Amino acid sequence: MNNKKAFITGITGQDGSYLAELLLEKNYEVHAILRRVSLFTTKRINHLFEHPNLHTYHGDLTDSSNLNRSLSKIEPKEIYNLSAQSHVGVSFEVPEYTAEVDAVGALRLLDAIRDTKVNTRFYQASTPELFGGIPGTKPQSEQTPFHPKSPYRAAKLYAYWITVNYRESYELYACNGILFNHESPRQGNTFVTKKITKAVANIYKGKQKVLKIGNLDAKRDWGRAKAKDFVYTQWLMLQQDKLKDYVIATGETHTVREFIELAFEEVGTKIQWKGTGIAEKGMDLSTGKILVEVNKKIFPSSRSKIAFRRCASKAEKELGWKRKISFRELI
Ligand code: NAP
Repeated sequence: MNNKKAFITGITGQDGSYLAELLLEKNYEVHAILRRVSLFTTKRINHLFEHPNLHTYHGDLTDSSNLNRSLSKIEPKEIYNLSAQSHVGVSFEVPEYTAEVDAVGALRLLDAIRDTKVNTRFYQASTPELFGGIPGTKPQSEQTPFHPKSPYRAAKLYAYWITVNYRESYELYACNGILFNHESPRQGNTFVTKKITKAVANIYKGKQKVLKIGNLDAKRDWGRAKAKDFVYTQWLMLQQDKLKDYVIATGETHTVREFIELAFEEVGTKIQWKGTGIAEKGMDLSTGKILVEVNKKIFPSSRSKIAFRRCASKAEKELGWKRKISFRELI
């Protein structure tokens, strides 16, 4: 039996695609579920499809019988639960579905492990959004109290605790990785970083006039997804003798404003800001042309106001992981 057998949910997402690359490179047999949808969603993994060690099946985190069958058939040694309705804004529109996938979905997988008695290790993709925005709190670490502020965050909170609970109650090898924002060219177009970099490229090519954005002063700790960077820690956590929950972060926070300035710098444009609040505009310093406007619909957004501060990471000490690139290089 191949001891290097992994089961991934969410393989068509940003992290899942990088994780699959990493595991295949490490000679794992990779099994993964794909949702049945009316159009192909496999763009991020098309380059892996012919790999002899990649096996995909239809499946869904809302379907327990499917998950049970998959685990008993595959008997994976490692399970990575990366599936989620992962968009905070969308979770306000589909809160029940978000809970079904992000919260109960994790429970379904954990119960499938119990029911099938498969000898495995379980990784749950948690999120720093669990910390919420408690003003004045110190940098977030594994000890910071949670205060989730959206249906997405509340659902992920359940998944976090049910993972801890099953580890403690049933001695399952299960852990949470709280990965701060991590980005890549494979990030979805609805996420702020991709929205910015795509708009800057389009403006540079003359395909778009203005970037419309929400809260310019929202702060985030942004790292890089990639198989050798943040996603690597997902694998690393499951290789530890004692499974623990870890926060993964760069330790630096930057504003959306800084992100925009650096992105424009990449195409040789210096941005000058004029006005305040909704009326604030970013102009090309040399031509005076307006390139950035605040989108009234998403400003001020309580949903995106949370300032994630830098976080001390036990992962650096215990896992020996260190970020690979700077903020500027990421952009
Ligand atoms: P993503 O790109 O949005 O990918 C989400 C994946 O979940 C996709 O493969 C999606 O499939 C799948 N999925 C959605 N609903 C499903 C369902 N009902 N059943 C089965 N699969 C379903 O997310 P990501 O950026 O790779 O993030 C991976 C995980 O880390 C997520 O759980 C996310 O919440 C968490 N996270 C991400 C970040 C970040 O900065 N990226 C930070 C913290 C935590 P389709 O392709 O069919 O939609």
